[in-house]
Amino acid sequence: MKIITHALELKEFTKNINKTVGFVPTMGALHEGHISLIKRAKKENEIVIVSIFLNPTQFLKGEDLDKYPKKDEADKKICELANVDVLFFPHAKDMYSDDEATVLAPKVRGYILEGATRPAHFNGVLTVVMKLLNIVSPTNAYFGKKDAQQLALISLIVKQFFMSVTIVAVDTMREKDGLAMSSRNVYLSQEERKEALKISASLYLAGKMVSKNILDAQEIIKNMRATLAPLEISYVEIVNRDFEKVWHVEIGNTIILVEAKVGTTRLLDNIWL
Ligand code: AMP
Repeated sequence: MKIITHALELKEFTKNINKTVGFVPTMGALHEGHISLIKRAKKENEIVIVSIFLNPTQFLKGEDLDKYPKKDEADKKICELANVDVLFFPHAKDMYSDDEATVLAPKVRGYILEGATRPAHFNGVLTVVMKLLNIVSPTNAYFGKKDAQQLALISLIVKQFFMSVTIVAVDTMREKDGLAMSSRNVYLSQEERKEALKISASLYLAGKMVSKNILDAQEIIKNMRATLAPLEISYVEIVNRDFEKVWHVEIGNTIILVEAKVGTTRLLDNIWL
């Protein structure tokens, strides 16, 4: 596995390979969820490039940038074992200068749900993704459905900026008991880890209601909120694939999303119906 730390070196490398390239951007502290993205990329491309970059500009003041788990050596091993071809490990100073142009998230879809709890978060995400996609020029780039709004906004900029990459959405990997895997799960105490199961339980309940043909969004949300209690809920919302709020579940075009705080940790989860 080749490890590259400089953007221009990677750009030079990708310019000269005449092969399909699958790209998996991450912030490190890799887990099975990330590995599933890498495996999918391996299946569908000749070369796989993974980036590990804890992007400072997508963290708001007071968020967990400083305590975000860092596992550089373990991450390298995981990538090696997954037969990653190139690991891109840039320094923040190589990615940003003092006077920067930025991608602005769309005014509506960038500021609802996750964007309402974390205003301007998506500006940071979209800017770094734009930079990474321009450095790597991949054929396909892989993103998790777990971060559904992020995935929708990335798909949107790719379309709106007429970029050539294909965005591939990958299903959420869960622990055996249902908890969605996340680098932030390490923040949870044993007690909080149990409490966190209310999040996936509320989504399973929603899925069950839909399977019984209960499609009314408010009815589903009410029952989900009851399951989530007493967690502090940031939002429970039902949207279509374009991230517009809907009143009824339409199978094949619905995402049900939850963000709740467990202790001091904000956790996201969703199901696609
Ligand atoms: P992160 O390192 O948290 O920025 O995540 C990097 C990529 O992995 C993003 O596209 C995430 O959506 C995806 N991802 C994170 N957790 C999971 C999971 N449990 N299952 C599948 N993909 C995930």
